[in-house]
Amino acid sequence: MANLDFDNTQKAFALKNDGQLNRSYWLFRLMQKPILVNFFSRLTVQALKIGLPIGPLVKATIFKQFCAGETLQESESVVALLKKVNVGSILDYSIEGKEREEDFDNTRDELLRIVALAKTNRSIPYTCLKLTGIARHDLLVKVNDKKALTAEEQKELDALKARYHEICASCEASDVPIYIDAEDYCLQGAIDSLTEEMMKKYNTKKAIIQTTAQLYRWDRLDYIKQLIIWARKEHIFIGLKLVRGAYWEKENERAHQMGYKSPVHSLKADTDRDYDKALDLCLENIDIVSICAGTHNEASTLHLVAKMKELGIPNTDKRICCSQLFGMSDHITYNLAESGYNVTKYLPYGPVKSVLPYLVRRAQENTSIAGQMSRELRLISEEKKRRHAPQS
Ligand SMILES: Cc1cc2nc3c(=O)[nH]c(=O)nc-3n(C[C@H](O)[C@H](O)[C@H](O)COP(=O)(O)OP(=O)(O)OC[C@H]3O[C@@H](n4cnc5c(N)ncnc54)[C@H](O)[C@@H]3O)c2cc1C
Repeated sequence: MANLDFDNTQKAFALKNDGQLNRSYWLFRLMQKPILVNFFSRLTVQALKIGLPIGPLVKATIFKQFCAGETLQESESVVALLKKVNVGSILDYSIEGKEREEDFDNTRDELLRIVALAKTNRSIPYTCLKLTGIARHDLLVKVNDKKALTAEEQKELDALKARYHEICASCEASDVPIYIDAEDYCLQGAIDSLTEEMMKKYNTKKAIIQTTAQLYRWDRLDYIKQLIIWARKEHIFIGLKLVRGAYWEKENERAHQMGYKSPVHSLKADTDRDYDKALDLCLENIDIVSICAGTHNEASTLHLVAKMKELGIPNTDKRICCSQLFGMSDHITYNLAESGYNVTKYLPYGPVKSVLPYLVRRAQENTSIAGQMSRELRLISEEKKRRHAPQS
């Protein structure tokens, strides 16, 4: 089996032709400039809101880098491409910010279509869901705060639970595990309790329902410990997607505005430490815990690999999966896959207008994190140079 080498750009970009590599290069160069990213993020959202026809421009540029397509059908060609290099796909119907029950029913129906496809296509080994895709954000905040609901809100909550059960039951029947994404702190408590209810019902034989822990939160290591104790008591399996967390700035701002202690670490090193400890904890309980390491961090990925080796867990163990977002950190994804690890890409798709919040987050993340951008750019530049070096 090949040795892990994250610097192997030939493998990392094997699926990109010269034109595609150039497009990525220019996009990542543009995204390095925070002023430009903020200006274009606001401009694009407004332009699409008032109906300016900029959809095709977005679709040909940033959308193509980070999304698989506008529809499930359109995305299947990317699934097939990833399959060629032994990388699985997690189709992520990235609809955000909806408010109407009708939209939530549509998202549920789309999820059921993904599960049906995954049942017959094993290169889609998991699926995923944002609970705010099937319920109103403010309803979840109210449930989170344990506030009394009006009769109308109670009906909404019942409808949410019915949709959630329908999706989970379909995942169980089709043997397709589902990751429940972690979201804002102000509603994550509600997501946690609803998801625990689902885990108790559907995880008696294996981890079908898998929750997400954001390790930038200083209380999450403890939460994971409690979850494992609870799962052992209930004789169920649990699944944990471990991420650092996507809303660090927003969480700090909200805590400051509302006058409560920030729920997230203030030092990156503390998040990194908790992330690796969470990996250890889950690996040490692998008899009942399934893990998805959702990260682009090389050190954490190497930490996972070393700990698996130390515990005698084979590379190919299906309970452990590494996952990166489509369009990012291909050098980790493809080199891990080459070494036999179970690897997937999160593959967002949906109408351009609906995936905009996701695209804005990706652009901002690639701007604000020191190191991340320069690494993507450096790797792409190295690959461009390698391809055009004179043959000796
Ligand atoms: C497959 C996959 C699924 C994901 N699912 C979710 C999800 O469900 N919910 C979600 O919120 N995010 C999710 N993410 C995004 C993830 O949380 C991170 O935002 C992103 O992956 C960057 O973190 P990193 O581990 O890759 O690496 P790094 O680049 O090493 O870390 C960057 C992260 O560190 C943290 N950080 C930055 N500065 C500080 C600081 N000063 N103090 C403390 N912490 C800091 C932030 O979380 C930041 O995103 C997912 C990512 C992947 C790859």
